[in-house]
Amino acid sequence: MISTPALVAPSAGAAFEARTVEHRDLRDDDVLIDVAFAGICHSDIHQVREEWGSAIFPMVPGHEIAGVVSAVGDGVTKYKVGDRVGVGCMVDSCGECEFCKDGEEQFCSKGAVMTYNGKGYDGEPTKGGYAQQVVVSERFAVGIPDGIELDVAAPLLCAGITVWSPLKRWGAGPGKRVAVIGLGGLGHMAVKLAVALGAEVSVLSRSDAKKEDGLALGATAYHATGDEGVLKSLKGSFDLIINTVSADLPMQTYIGLLRPLGVIANVGLPTNNYDFAPGAVVGGSRVVAGSNIGGIPATAEMLAFCAEHGIGATIEKISADEVDAAYDRVVAGDVRYRFVIDTATISA
Ligand SMILES: [Zn+2]
Ligand SMILES: [Zn+2]
Repeated sequence: MISTPALVAPSAGAAFEARTVEHRDLRDDDVLIDVAFAGICHSDIHQVREEWGSAIFPMVPGHEIAGVVSAVGDGVTKYKVGDRVGVGCMVDSCGECEFCKDGEEQFCSKGAVMTYNGKGYDGEPTKGGYAQQVVVSERFAVGIPDGIELDVAAPLLCAGITVWSPLKRWGAGPGKRVAVIGLGGLGHMAVKLAVALGAEVSVLSRSDAKKEDGLALGATAYHATGDEGVLKSLKGSFDLIINTVSADLPMQTYIGLLRPLGVIANVGLPTNNYDFAPGAVVGGSRVVAGSNIGGIPATAEMLAFCAEHGIGATIEKISADEVDAAYDRVVAGDVRYRFVIDTATISA
């Protein structure tokens, strides 16, 4: 077994403890990664607090992982010691079904294995990136190109790919008017990526509080939607809306902001059902879509794009003893725009 210091949530909602945890010995296709940084995703908080149904404890969260390969299994061909790699939301899939073959491992027919709070095909609970080392199959490690620092790369592995997928699928690019709802961890990445793809980007946020940031990220317009007249004035304005918020929104109103053939792609998970009249989508042939992370080839493509365009997440770096407080700040919306844990500070 491989022992490594990690931040462990002992039970639902309890404070983190620094403990030594054990990983399996390397299989033929495994790489051992010395984790440098791990991003804090809002979904970590939901799972640690057991807000998404029953969870597996003790839990080591973290699926925005960036580090360096420090050992490789006998059969590894993709990486060598010293390579910079990232790991996102998945660490295994069957590799044989049509979705795996298409590089859409998140839809694996056998069920993809989640990076933490999941069980591997061997039945062992998985452990995520709030640790100094992780072990994963080389198939689920993605090379991080030179030109992106590891700290700003970490959040790309979940926040980045989550918004990259719908932007690419629905054709964000030159001549397209894209709106991003919510300027948080996901939203700020959506703005950066859509701008770099060549789209004309607007931010839709409740208040003006993040206006300066939104425009600095490259958006050409920023609209505070708390003011009722604002949404009315934007009717029929956008080809694509990326909705990153998990709060309930008046979906019908937002569909109305789309041009004919426009798409609203939702990546957040509100508790309540969307509410809109059929006519809202039939008139104008509009699409209400959802999107769930992205596969390994798309993640590699996104990282290459980010390196080429000098894009990383905007982060606040924290040490291991600040994670509990950081969780409260994420829930309060008080982070610009992603907390990243310096895993060197975990001492167990
Ligand atoms: Zn995430
Ligand atoms: Zn599969």
